[in-house]
Amino acid sequence: MKEIVLSGIRATGNLHLGNYYGALRNFVRMQDDPAYDNMFFVADLHALTTNPDPEQLHANVKNILAEYLAAGLDPEKSTIFIQSDVPEVSELYLLLNMHVGIGELMRTASFKDKARKALGIKSDSDDIEKEIIGTDSNKRVNAGLLTYPTLMAVDILIQKAHKVPVGKDQEQHLELTRRFARRFNSFYGVELFPEPQNFNFGANAVKVPGLDGSGKMGKSEGNCIYLIDDEKTLRKKVMRAVTDEGPKTPNQPVSQSVENIFTLMDLACAPDVVKHYRDAYADCSIRYGDMKKQLAEDLLKITLPIRERILDIQNDDAYLARAVKIGAERARERAAATLAEAREIMGIRKFY
Ligand code: AMP
Repeated sequence: MKEIVLSGIRATGNLHLGNYYGALRNFVRMQDDPAYDNMFFVADLHALTTNPDPEQLHANVKNILAEYLAAGLDPEKSTIFIQSDVPEVSELYLLLNMHVGIGELMRTASFKDKARKALGIKSDSDDIEKEIIGTDSNKRVNAGLLTYPTLMAVDILIQKAHKVPVGKDQEQHLELTRRFARRFNSFYGVELFPEPQNFNFGANAVKVPGLDGSGKMGKSEGNCIYLIDDEKTLRKKVMRAVTDEGPKTPNQPVSQSVENIFTLMDLACAPDVVKHYRDAYADCSIRYGDMKKQLAEDLLKITLPIRERILDIQNDDAYLARAVKIGAERARERAAATLAEAREIMGIRKFY
């Protein structure tokens, strides 16, 4: 029996280099490993927590799907689907919520962060409940945001996935998934849900830095290089990346912003190229302009072919439809079987 691997990305915008190196590139590699049965989805229901514009939501789903396929995900090798194409997920979400405590949901770090953002509160206090209740009534935190971990758990548990390749930021949600699985199993005395583990294919998880000298490349950080960026845009972004005044003494420690550029070079450039610039930094002969030009050149070799394919695939509605239709069929088959078991276990049974 192959192990089931499942992961998804929220439909909230275009994919950037952080998504590519942190997630998508590994998805593509896993497709060719016979040990795994892979499922990758576009999480459109999860995107609803921020009440997106309906046209924009649909466009985002299409973008991410096209980007998945352009980066090399293959519907013949992996099950590629849209979350909302599996309505069984929504029903199990209702059922599982009956075993989830609002307290434990309120205590998750991402909920506290996002709730405070929604309310416009800057605070480090632990009393998010008081903050929510005390806020004036025209601002609200929707219940979907609170129950986000239940939905994520259901995405995983309904497919009985063993391995979930996600970044470190998702570890707390995955821990909750395991807890909900154990709780359901022990409450009913069954072994319905396996406990999923986080999983990194090959080396350690990478954290792709931003171009603004900050820690992480991220959609909401505004510091991203997107797979869809054209040549001019990408070059401009890289040339504007934050650096410093340059080394003054040999072997001087490297500042965070310059280290970020080296980290991107490690991902995109050949090792001897990176060594050349590391040596030039050490002997103070480095010119950041040359280094950035090199980085832009090597990034373009990776992103431009993907960009070309994204543009082609975006216009190929028949291919997009075919890809997610076979994906939805496969995902639904497994989801329906798990949902039927869960209903039976919980006593939701038919008279006819
Ligand atoms: P998100 O864009 O936050 O929905 O993340 C989708 C996937 O991309 C998750 O598996 C993240 O862990 C991964 N990811 C997002 N940003 C980065 C980054 N800067 N470095 C590495 N992985 C990332």
